[in-house]
Amino acid sequence: MADASLRERRAVVRVIFLGPPGAGKGTQAARLAARVGVPKIGTGEMLREATAKQTPLGKEAHPYMEAGNLVPDDLLVALVRERIGEPDCGSGFVLDGFPRTLPQARGLEDMTGGDPHAWVVFDIEVPRDVLMLRLSGRRWCPRCQATYHVVNDPPGRPAVCDVCGTALVQREDDRESVVAHRLEEYAQRTFPLIEHYRTRARMLAIDGNRPMDDVFRDLVQAIEVPA
Ligand SMILES: [Zn+2]
Repeated sequence: MADASLRERRAVVRVIFLGPPGAGKGTQAARLAARVGVPKIGTGEMLREATAKQTPLGKEAHPYMEAGNLVPDDLLVALVRERIGEPDCGSGFVLDGFPRTLPQARGLEDMTGGDPHAWVVFDIEVPRDVLMLRLSGRRWCPRCQATYHVVNDPPGRPAVCDVCGTALVQREDDRESVVAHRLEEYAQRTFPLIEHYRTRARMLAIDGNRPMDDVFRDLVQAIEVPA
């Protein structure tokens, strides 16, 4: 539920989440957006929606996604520009998965009038070995899409879906070697972004290796009490 006092204190709330795959950004971004009463904008969801609806940008992005390639910066920037121009973003937004590169960050600044100093950038930090365990332990039911984790959220019977009894599988993306590659790629692409925001925005490093509620409490506090 939206918290009116939060909205009164900050006219426009613009939040960016940085953090490696497995850091819990998506979940925290959704919770924070709901708490503050602004939309959560996830580029992954937007891309899937745009391609499903066959919008002009969706059609352009489709071949990249199908080939498993990264969607070019200018295409993503155009997609985000379209989204944050909608009326529900008037009080701000919480971004999840964007920007990921320096050109994307500059594109975002262009479309919002330049100055990111009032923005809050959360950098969710989680040790590499913890991320490896989190990601490579994920299992998924190919029939009903239920998700599990071999350690944190195991099914009642090993490797069998609680809901429909189907054998669970590991997504290609979550295999250990692929995870290692994803984490390296993230570090390489995001380092310049962290440097970019360190001096231009209110960037806060958040210890993401804690229970989700503890992490969330820190995020809310950071927004409630602007430095
Ligand atoms: Zn199932």
